[in-house]
Amino acid sequence: MESLPCQGCKGMCCGPVPVSEQELKNIKKKIKMMSPKNRLELENQIRYYGTCIFYDQVNDKCGIHSARPSICRAFVLYKNLVCFRKPEAAAAANWNMKEVYAGILSKDFTWKDF
Ligand code: SF4
Repeated sequence: MESLPCQGCKGMCCGPVPVSEQELKNIKKKIKMMSPKNRLELENQIRYYGTCIFYDQVNDKCGIHSARPSICRAFVLYKNLVCFRKPEAAAAANWNMKEVYAGILSKDFTWKDF
């Protein structure tokens, strides 16, 4: 897939996102694998209100990239997940969650849950 225009965006698409139960488990596993130092550094970053709790402001990237939820992987590519920097990449179809919904990451699940 061609590259996405994410660099320098500072996580503008990384707001509260829906997660499934399985995705939540995957994220918990990923966080447990982090060193206490890395976890604390990520957890204590100052973020804009509404920015995802896992967004790494310092390094301008997702802090849990390999365990990010499916909606984050789908962003840019669907009609209901358009990126204003690359609207032409969106397909005609809408994205829908295919697994069992658990809640909203950053709202229903915060750092104290991981
Ligand atoms: S999990 Fe990662 S990609 Fe998804 S909203 Fe949070 S920081 Fe962004």
